[in-house]
Formats: sequence, C-alpha cells, structure tokens
Amino acid sequence: MPDPTVCVAGGGPAGVMLGLLLARAGIRVTVLEKHADFLRDFRGDTVHPSTLEVLAELGLADRLEQIPHQRLVRAGFEHAGRRVDILDLRHLRVRHPYIALVPQWDFLELLAAAASAYPEFELRRQAEAYDLVVEHGRVVGVRVRDRSGGHGSDGGDYTLRAALTVAADGRHSTLRRAAGLTSRAFGAPMDVVWFRLPWAEGDSAAQALTFRFGPGRAAVTIPRRTYWQIAYLIRKGGFDDLRAQGIDALRRGLAQTVPFLADRVGELTSFDDTSVLEVRMDRLRRWYRPGMLAIGDASHAMSPVAGVGINLAVQDAVAAANLLVPALREAQRSGVPVPDRVLAAVQHRRQLPTAVTQAVQRTVQTIGLDRTLRADPDSSPPGILPAWLAPVLRRPMSRFVGLGVRPEHVRTWPD
Ligand SMILES: Cc1cc2nc3c(=O)[nH]c(=O)nc-3n(C[C@H](O)[C@H](O)[C@H](O)COP(=O)(O)OP(=O)(O)OC[C@H]3O[C@@H](n4cnc5c(N)ncnc54)[C@H](O)[C@@H]3O)c2cc1C
Repeated sequence: MPDPTVCVAGGGPAGVMLGLLLARAGIRVTVLEKHADFLRDFRGDTVHPSTLEVLAELGLADRLEQIPHQRLVRAGFEHAGRRVDILDLRHLRVRHPYIALVPQWDFLELLAAAASAYPEFELRRQAEAYDLVVEHGRVVGVRVRDRSGGHGSDGGDYTLRAALTVAADGRHSTLRRAAGLTSRAFGAPMDVVWFRLPWAEGDSAAQALTFRFGPGRAAVTIPRRTYWQIAYLIRKGGFDDLRAQGIDALRRGLAQTVPFLADRVGELTSFDDTSVLEVRMDRLRRWYRPGMLAIGDASHAMSPVAGVGINLAVQDAVAAANLLVPALREAQRSGVPVPDRVLAAVQHRRQLPTAVTQAVQRTVQTIGLDRTLRADPDSSPPGILPAWLAPVLRRPMSRFVGLGVRPEHVRTWPD
C-alpha cells in the first residue's frame, strides 16, 4: 500500500471522524490509535444534536439507533429542594432534539466501521505516534511505536510519511508538544470524580440530568436506566485530600448532596471504584505548522461543563475535512504540499466557536461553581443561579449546548 496522504494520530472522536470524512472523499488516510480497542475508563458519552445531525448527513443515524442508548431532553439543577430546568432541547428545530447517551466506544466503533467501508481508510491499533519527522522545516510524517506485531520491521518502530499529519491525540497530545505549539491555559476551579451507583426500584429516568450543590462540593446525577452515572465535583487539586479522608468522606458528601442516593452510597467500596478527571482548559495559540494540524482536544482541552468536548471534536473534524479536501486531492494527485493558508483557514473557522464555548464554560465555572467549591463544608449551602433566571436562559443555553456556535455540515464531493 502506498504511503497515506494523511496520517491522523489518535483514534478518538476527532481522529476517527476525520478519517471517515477524508476516506469518503477519496483521500488515503491512516489513523493511528495507541490502544488496542476503544474501551476506556469512562470518558463521556454525550452525543449532542449537532453530532447527531452530522451522523444523519452521513447516513449513519439509523446505525446509531441500533446501539442501545438513552435520550436526554432536559437538564437542570436542584436547590433548596426545588428542581429547575436550565436546558430543554425539545425546542430545537433539528431532526434529533435530544442528547443521545451512547457509550463512547460504541460511537467510535460505529464511525470506524463506516470508515472501513472505504479502501482509502486504514486504522492501525496499538500504534503510537511518538515523534514528528521534520524535513526542511516541514512535518513529513511521524515516528510510530507499533505493538500490534503487524507493522514495521524494526521491532514495530517505523516512520509513516504523509503529506499532512493531524494531531488528534487528545488533551495530553504528544504531537503538539513535539511540534512546539504553545497554548494558553485557563484555570478551572474543580476536578471531577466519576463513578456509578446502582439503580433502585422506584428510581425514575424522568429525574433527568440534575446538578446539586452543597458547600465544598457539587454532584451531577445522570440516569442510565440500569445505573446512575455520577460526576462528583471537588475543589481543584482536592482529590488527594479527599482520598486521605477515606471513602467514607466521599460517601458522606454524596449522601448530603444527593439525599435519594444515601441508601446506596455503601456500594462505593474504595477509590478504585472511581476515576478522576483532572479538569483543564486550554487552547493552542496556533493550531498548525507546515505539514501538520492539531484538532479536537489536542488543540483545545475543554471543561466538562455542558459536556461538549466530543461534539467540538467532531465539529473540528467536519470543518477540517470541508476545508482540506481540495488541497489534499491535489497533494494526492501530484504531490503538491498542502499550503499553510489552508491549515490556517481551519484554525480560523474553528477558533471562534471554541473561544466562545470556553468563555461560557469559564463564566459558569466562576459564577456557579467557584464559590460553591470554596465554601467551608460545614457552612450552609451557598446560593447559585437565582431560579427566576433559569427560564430566561433556557432557550439560549439549549441552543448553545445542543448545536454549539456555528454548527458545521458535511460536504459531499464530486468523484
Ligand atoms: C472522564 C471524562 C469525562 C468526559 N465527559 C464528557 C462528556 O460527558 N461529554 C463530552 O462531550 N466530553 C466529555 N469528555 C471530554 C471528551 O471525552 C473529549 O473532549 C473528547 O473525547 C475529545 O476528542 P478527541 O478525539 O479530540 O480526543 P480523545 O477522545 O482524547 O482521543 C484521543 C485518542 O488518541 C489516542 N492517543 C493519544 N496519544 C496518542 C499517540 N501519541 N498516538 C496514537 N494515539 C494516541 C488516545 O488513546 C485516544 O483514543 C470527558 C473526558 C473525560 C476524561
């Protein structure tokens, strides 16, 4: 097989979606994924209307329907015993006005299977891009450590050359560091402890996604029909303290914040039942250099506020494919390098939606979370958003969360 025209490092939502879109346009693309499969610790599974629209445009909506999933139409917060909706997606004028809660590995398998229908697409698993290959100041490929046993003659260590390398290797991106791309970091007041608790008779999915706030902590409960997915928010850097206090401190804090779960917090036997998301938010100043582009979390790590990370990654992939395909076809046909101005156009297109989304996340963090998480655990619960403001914000927030800023649409290319 000839060298690919595009090498994508990272088989997450950004990388696999880009691989699919490019292969569909006849571009030879190899996606490198360092893991053997897409199964991971929990890392989010909210597929928003903007992504559902992209799937529909690709003719994949029916396949998503076949994956067991849930639909979430409302989200809100509870304070002083009262629940207030801050999101109601039923107002959105789209084909799929809901968030589909789909395990991320099923979502990625769906995309990879659809991409594999194109001979131009290749997914190499257990293949880690660990450095860039640079010639005359231009990235011309990556160095790969391959544990699959299927590629590379030198103990699975080889060079993969491509006209364009895309860093879609997530928020700890190796390639963005290797490229010397610098970022602007924005603080976040919290880290998140994720875990599950069992569903009990009498629980209702109609309770919808709900935030609850207590002094020094907050919790998000997401109904998953057979279990509750819990995001327990703690002060930034506070996990070591919490761990030192023991699992009982977590159980107690949760029971106080979400009283209806008090009867089952004992199911948490140790911190091994939890995974911690160290929240960070940043954005590259420049998303590209000659021969290379960064997208998804590799160019902008997002806060978990509003659960938009997957969807922004997908939007980046759609925008990148729409802008890159003509230049990549030229590169594939005649070896002409992809001009920097096309890479700059991708950054230009996606920078504003990313910056606006991060600005909203920062506002929510500052107004809604910072004071709560800094409050003394023995004080009375701090006030958050006044309830009267929720109906005013509901429509704009629903649109912002569901569709994002400047939603992208899949282009269809002549052969
Ligand atoms: C605990 C947790 C909960 C989250 N919850 C949500 C949520 O509810 N909703 C939401 O929208 N977002 C959520 N997110 C964020 C979301 O998962 C990311 O924003 C999104 O997955 C970004 O997609 P990506 O493709 O850019 O990067 P990633 O999903 O991080 O994918 C990067 C891929 O690259 C691979 N990789 C890394 N380095 C290399 C390398 N050097 N070579 C080859 N492969 C490599 C990784 O294995 C990974 O598969 C959550 C994240 C975490 C950690």
